Amino acid sequence: MNSNENQDHKVPKDHPRYQSLNYRRKIIEGMRNLITAEAGLIAHGRGECFDYILGEKTNSIAKKAIKAAVALLLLAKKPVISVNGNTAALCPKYLIELSNAVNAPLEINLFYRKEGRIGIIKKVLENAGASNLLGIDEEKMVEIKDLSSNRRIVDPNGIYLADVVLVPLEDGDRSEALKKLNKQVIAVDLNPLSRTSLCADITIVDNIVRTLPEMIKIVGELKKFSENELKKIIENFDNKKNIQNTLDLIINYIEKQKEDAFEILGT
Ligand code: ATP
Repeated sequence: MNSNENQDHKVPKDHPRYQSLNYRRKIIEGMRNLITAEAGLIAHGRGECFDYILGEKTNSIAKKAIKAAVALLLLAKKPVISVNGNTAALCPKYLIELSNAVNAPLEINLFYRKEGRIGIIKKVLENAGASNLLGIDEEKMVEIKDLSSNRRIVDPNGIYLADVVLVPLEDGDRSEALKKLNKQVIAVDLNPLSRTSLCADITIVDNIVRTLPEMIKIVGELKKFSENELKKIIENFDNKKNIQNTLDLIINYIEKQKEDAFEILGT
């Protein structure tokens, strides 16, 4: 790495947007190391944009979805957490912590399967403490129906058999294909209007970097719940209503920002 690139990476700690710039840096570094695909940078930018109009915090609506998602993961017989390049670059430790907490293995599943990427992501996750990763033995992989992208290539012991799949930063095609296979899908997507968000059983509209630690915290609370109590949480959760409430929240947030901007502009 040359010194100019090093300079690029320095985000001063007192910068008002330190956290956001720091995650951006992780994605850029991830791209240079082949963890993230080039298109992953654009997906991250789209996510940032939605995060901005959600106030960059985990709101109470997302928290409801998180609680239902954790209940579903705890009740699942064969839950799997799907991992792509962006999530591996942004928060490998949280992925492992959640995987251990709900007993759901991590499966590497990529849209862009550039030569060597699976091995590099495997290393990132293993360096962060992961073991028993799925999706890594290319020769053993199988394909799921109704999907033409590389996302169709799945582990026969993982997503292929799973009853519940957590899909952070997903593309809509695969979410729809997983649904057709009667799997329950939990999406983490900052865009409440994406096809993934609209077809998932539980849609968490939040940034993955905040969602995972919140999920880990909620596992601690819900682990003491009985099966019936967990089922009640899911029964009482209405995904459609939750997405509608998120859209209302965005509209109200923009209205408020508009008022604030007018004040600054002096109109
Ligand atoms: P769909 O096919 O479901 O309509 P899409 O084509 O918009 O989705 P991609 O381009 O694959 O999907 O982008 C992935 C999604 O991930 C985007 O909707 C983006 O908002 C979201 N996203 C990006 N970064 C994050 C993040 N850090 N946390 C949560 N969601 C994110």
